[in-house]
Amino acid sequence: MRVEGEIKLAFDDVMIRPKRSTLVSRSDVSLIRDFSFKHTDRKWSGIPVAAANMDTTGVFSVATVLQDHGMLTCLQKFYSVKELEDAWNKGVSPNNVAITCGSTEESLQLLKRKMATNPDLQMICIDVANGYREVFLDFVKVVRRDFPDKIVIAGNVATNEMTEALILAGADVVKVGIGPGSVCTTRKVAGVGYPQLSAIAECADAAHGLGGHVMADGGCNSPGDIAKAFAAGADFVMLGGLFAGHDESGGELMETKDGRLFKSFHGMSSSTAMERHYGEIAKHRAPEGKAVRVPYRGSLSTTVQSILGGVRSSCSYVGARRIKDLPKCTTFIRVTQTTNEVYRGLELDE
Ligand code: 5GP
Repeated sequence: MRVEGEIKLAFDDVMIRPKRSTLVSRSDVSLIRDFSFKHTDRKWSGIPVAAANMDTTGVFSVATVLQDHGMLTCLQKFYSVKELEDAWNKGVSPNNVAITCGSTEESLQLLKRKMATNPDLQMICIDVANGYREVFLDFVKVVRRDFPDKIVIAGNVATNEMTEALILAGADVVKVGIGPGSVCTTRKVAGVGYPQLSAIAECADAAHGLGGHVMADGGCNSPGDIAKAFAAGADFVMLGGLFAGHDESGGELMETKDGRLFKSFHGMSSSTAMERHYGEIAKHRAPEGKAVRVPYRGSLSTTVQSILGGVRSSCSYVGARRIKDLPKCTTFIRVTQTTNEVYRGLELDE
């Protein structure tokens, strides 16, 4: 047995220290970033925030809102080829979505058919809960070989050595996050995880050294957390829970006896998701996700505006004119959990 003694940090363990700045207003801040990638000549330009490939957020109705803001949606993998074809006809932009697949031979064949539905598709998201298996690396190599000109996002991992391995295997963007998700129970069920802020910083350091990128996935519960993720070195940030509960998100709308509205939201490894997509929970598996209800929040566009406003505000507090400059402008201060704890009543607009 070995114990690593170095302290690893989560979003709540730090705050961004304010600094003098020459910015006049937060409207001077640009959240758009121009990307080039390690393994392909393709470029992508936009606001590097992505909806998670969950069946409540990685959906066409979310994608149509996010594309208007220049943001991305990693589509849930359960869409059929026919549904994708219809989506392009209905105005979903292939430039702002990634096609998600698992790591089996069957998913590879399905991925090929889906990529053929639109030549303008440029991003593939290979998503597994545990990106540490050798067979996963082999799968990434195969996808790289079969799609040499596409942008490949692959994960999830949370440490530097596996980030490097994935980039060398062909990933352009490594998805980082083991256990931080709002409806994830991996840390309880399996005892496995890595505090997300440190995971982002260490994986970004590894990826950037090789000309790769990282997408911070999970654990952002507020716009401030998104800013911390970018400040720690994330090139992209993926959101699940923050995009749940809206008109455009999946999930059932429910009303309590006292008239409050909620929408259901569940982890993709929850029993709810496994029963929905596979009809049963495989015998060798314990669910590593849960089903919750989140307050109904109306239109997604309003939330997107407040998220982007929050990140712009963070940038203006430290003098970062572009989102790309946030890491070099940021000094984090460590805080105790008590400092960060928010004591409050039930918010009037909750
Ligand atoms: P959130 O933004 O809600 O905090 O995190 C979203 C991320 O949680 C997803 O992109 C995915 O990586 C992760 N996730 C989604 N469902 C599950 C699940 O059932 N179990 C685990 N371990 N992670 C999940």
